[in-house]
This record gives sequence, structure tokens and C-alpha cells, in this order.
Amino acid sequence: MILPPAMLGMLGGGQLARFFVIAAHEMGYRVTVLDPDHNSPAGRIADGHLCAAYDDSQALEKMAQTCVAVTTEFENVPASTLTTLAKRVRVYPAASAVAICQHRVSEKNFLREHGFPHAPYAEINTESDIPATDSSLYPAILKVARFGYDGKGQARVTNPEEALAAFHQFKSEQCVLEQMLTLDYEVSVVLARDAEGQIAAFPTSENIHRNGILDISIVPARGSIEDRDEAQLLARAVAEKLDFVGTLGVEIFVSGGQLYVNEMAPRPHNSGHYTLDACITNQFEQQIRALCGLPLGDARLHSNAVMVNLLGDVWPEGQAPDWSVLFEQTNLKLHLYGKHEARPGRKMGHFTVVGDDADTVLQHALAVRKRIKVEG
Ligand code: ATP
Ligand code: MG
Repeated sequence: MILPPAMLGMLGGGQLARFFVIAAHEMGYRVTVLDPDHNSPAGRIADGHLCAAYDDSQALEKMAQTCVAVTTEFENVPASTLTTLAKRVRVYPAASAVAICQHRVSEKNFLREHGFPHAPYAEINTESDIPATDSSLYPAILKVARFGYDGKGQARVTNPEEALAAFHQFKSEQCVLEQMLTLDYEVSVVLARDAEGQIAAFPTSENIHRNGILDISIVPARGSIEDRDEAQLLARAVAEKLDFVGTLGVEIFVSGGQLYVNEMAPRPHNSGHYTLDACITNQFEQQIRALCGLPLGDARLHSNAVMVNLLGDVWPEGQAPDWSVLFEQTNLKLHLYGKHEARPGRKMGHFTVVGDDADTVLQHALAVRKRIKVEG
């Protein structure tokens, strides 16, 4: 067991890392963040900030010297960084698990190899792969294999000609062409798994997206108990096959009454932010527990919850919304990430409404959302 006041290393300095730092501080740990941005949300509150690229050998050397264990807040950290650090200090999740999740082709192939249900897809390596694609894939989504997030690097296409045009638009980078499913709804399961293979899963969340970005999470998910339970089983099985250690988010589509794994995030997940206010242990504390070899905390939900994302769009012309509207709500928890610049689509914060009655909580969250003019 790694105990406080040990120094933990965090690769990445965004809001997920910031919540990690907050949880670590509460538990008595210290954190060094590696992030190339001087003003990163986590770097500013961490005990140490290595302001360097993720493959900077000096920074990695410093991290290995000063930290006893290292984890990550985002999947795009080079797998080689994790491998390098793992020679010197404890690193979870393993480079092999992160490598699968950071590349859509390996992710899809992983799902296929292990028999997990997923949307039909074709690997697109060169433009000559496109005419050969099965017509049953269309309408489809072309997704770049690397560095896509929040719907970026994705194009909806209805035939091979459009797929080709989109492929060129993505500068002929390796892609996945995925069949567009008609979604009943979307869910996710965030769970933690420790090095002994124990799993503590948070309840299934129902997720509503807008323009490819998570907008609202409703917990517990509406829909059938069978769907909720099946999502839990799928997520656990995925974590086991990845031999994952840490906090993992598994995104799942429900289409025609069937569940399909969409993608995995080898880190805490936006759809798990409700755990901060509605669960006995939150997803960031679990990440620390798994990393440090502490027993996982109780993941039970103590309140119904609805989480609403606050994107930069809520800051028209840089003007912040009237926060007093949110603070007037006594069962609402506001979390702002401390980002200086509000850009459309940028995740600036979120709020969670908690309560005993699921429907009342949802209506309340939607009413507040409307009052601060989150469009739509
Ligand atoms: P994020 O990082 O926010 O999870 P992303 O850029 O990695 O997003 P995906 O999760 O693949 O992208 O897709 C974003 C959203 O687009 C999904 O949550 C879903 O609403 C929609 N979507 C993606 N793929 C499909 C599909 N095959 N069929 C139907 N809808 C889809
Ligand atoms: Mg996604």
C-alpha cells in the first residue's frame, strides 16, 4: 500500500486531473502533474507541475525520481511514456490497456476478438479500402483512429463517395468506418478495478449527447433493469479482458433493444462526475485507491442524480452565466474547472442535482439548465 503523504504522478492537467488532485489532497497525498500548458486546471493546484511535453525525457526522469506511482487522466498519452515510467515506478493502468483504448482500430479489434457486441465497422487504412466497404455499413460514421474526442474527427457519410471525401478531409489518416446505429438511448458504466482483480462498479448512467458532446447524465439510467444489469456485466468483462487497473469508463449504445460497446476510456469519465456528489466514494478517489493498492471504496449511489455539463457556449461573448441562479438551489452542486478561456464546445464545468425522487431531480436539473440558457 502506498500511504499519504506519498507523491503521486498524474499525466495530464485537465479537469479530470484536477478532481484527482482534489481527492488526493483530501486523502493526504501530494500530486505532481505533467502537462505542457502553464495554466492547466490541475497544474495550478498540484504540489508540483512539470510543464513539458508527455514524451519529454527530462520531465519523465523527474517524475520517476519524485513520484511513487503514476497514472493518467487521458488516453492520448504516448504508451511509450507509460512503458518508460513503469520501469522505475508503479504505473496504472498499464501501457498495454491504454494503447488499446487510444486507438479506435485496436479498440474495435479488441471488442471483436473478445466477442463483445459492437457496431459493424471497417478499418480504413488507405483510400483504396473505401470502395471495398460493405454497402450495409451505410449510413455510417467515419472516425479518425487517434486523438478524436467530443465528436471531433468524425463525419457522417451515406455512401462511399462521401466517405472518401471525409477521409481526404481527415488528411488520409487511419480511420474506422462504423455503421450508424439507430439508438434507443446511450448508457455508460464507470468502474474501478484493483490490482487483485476486485471490481467496484458505479451504477449505470444514461447519457444524452448534443452535437457529439455529453450534455446530461441521468443516474440511475431510465430504461429497463435488464439493460442496466447487462451494461454492468459488459463493463466488468471489458475491464477483466483489458486487465485494467484504475478507473475505467465504458460507453454503451442501446439499439433495437441490444447493447453495443461504443468505446472505453482508461480513466475517470465525464459521465461519472455525478459520483462526486451522489456516491459514497467518487471515481477519483477510486482511481487513487486502485493506484495506491488501497481497498476500493463503496461505490453505492446514495441519491438519485442528474449531471449537466457546462460548455463554453454558456459564456456568450465571454460573459459567465449568473451563478447565483445555481447557488440558490440547495440540492445542486456546482463544479467549475478554472479554465480561463470559454470556447464553444469546451467543457468549463458541470453541475449535479441530487435528491430522493428521480423524476423530481430530472425536472429540477432541466429547469435550472434552461434558466442559465444552455441552448436546446
Ligand atoms: P467522447 O470523447 O465525448 O466520448 P468521441 O469523440 O470519442 O466522444 P464517440 O463516443 O465515438 O466519440 O461518439 C460520440 C457520440 O456520437 C456518441 O456518444 C453517439 O451519440 C454518437 N455516435 C457515435 N458512433 C455512433 C454510431 N455508430 N451510431 C450511432 N451514434 C453514434
Ligand atoms: Mg464517446
